[in-house]
Amino acid sequence: MASITIRELTKVYPGGVRALDALDLDVAMGEFFALLGPSGCGKTTLLRTIAGLEAATGGTIRLGDEDVTRHQPGRRDVGMVFQDYALFPHMTVLDNIAYPLRVRKQSRAVRYGRATSVAQVLGLQGLERRRPGELSGGQQQRVALARAVVADPRILLLDEPLSNLDARLRLEARTFLKTFQHRHGFTTVFVTHDQAEALALADRIAVMESGQIRQIGTPAEVFRRPASLFVASFIGSTPMNLLPGTVRGGAVAVGGTELPVPEEARGLVLDGQEVVCGVRPEYMEFSTEPVDGAFGGRVSVVENLGASSLVTLDVDGETVRAVVGEGFEAQPSAEGWASPRPGRVLLYRDGELVTG
Ligand code: ADP
Ligand code: MG
Repeated sequence: MASITIRELTKVYPGGVRALDALDLDVAMGEFFALLGPSGCGKTTLLRTIAGLEAATGGTIRLGDEDVTRHQPGRRDVGMVFQDYALFPHMTVLDNIAYPLRVRKQSRAVRYGRATSVAQVLGLQGLERRRPGELSGGQQQRVALARAVVADPRILLLDEPLSNLDARLRLEARTFLKTFQHRHGFTTVFVTHDQAEALALADRIAVMESGQIRQIGTPAEVFRRPASLFVASFIGSTPMNLLPGTVRGGAVAVGGTELPVPEEARGLVLDGQEVVCGVRPEYMEFSTEPVDGAFGGRVSVVENLGASSLVTLDVDGETVRAVVGEGFEAQPSAEGWASPRPGRVLLYRDGELVTG
């Protein structure tokens, strides 16, 4: 196992697309690291460049103490699971798994001994003689994972490994992946465009946009304190309330309501400045009785989330959302009041979190 140290990594494709733009990244040994971002932000390019399948235009990649930037893929000792798994359709499961050992010119006995034991670890026993076309999506994913780890790589790279599975299987495979990683301690970079997946799996998350990393942190940090409106709008299964307002005497006037300037932003914003107050719907208190200083309006939609509901309130044309607990009977068109829990308001100016 190795750590990963990336400095000023740039990748410009022949057509001129700058897919990675002077990107810095540190992944610790044994860490389960998620790269999260919208389609086209450069996630796959980053993985392929780490693996050596794409040449870097500039910058360096180190695995442990070794600079591998100019190494051929075969010399990097990297295991990779591709988004479509890229299994060899004409080979059996066991031959697929053993393939990296064949490339390394291991003996037949070593190849099959090792492939058989990895197949067992991944719950593939009994399927060794089948071909990929005779497997379910979840089984194919495990074969791809087995092939990625069979040669004992220094790092493991997973490109949206769960995106081809249906919703129920995806959840199962996600738990399996986390257990597997935890048990074997692989330094893992996991790519996803699904924020829930990143939050659920990762030790840390990097949120990417346009070939750059916008924020790095633990799932809790990124969820609670998105560093920019871009990250705020990207993270969370219900979208964050982003309420535009104006600073006025220690408070932010949002429509007819005033929210106190958060402690961390005091002294950093000036009267008259335009800002955005960010509050997660999970951190909004909702009441059907009038509350002082709350956003008062009319309930426009109530969505059932299972154990809770998402209430959308129309406040003078502005939308305010709150998650309310079980047993709440909200009626559309009823009056409602929503107020942020103390300490749960984030202040953004020019798209960035205002903090000391
Ligand atoms: P993601 O995996 O986050 O969806 P990609 O790394 O696949 O993003 O792509 C990043 C950018 O690079 C996109 O604009 C994409 O169109 C472009 N790109 C990806 N692969 C190539 C390629 N082989 N040649 C030219 N442009 C590419
Ligand atoms: Mg991709």
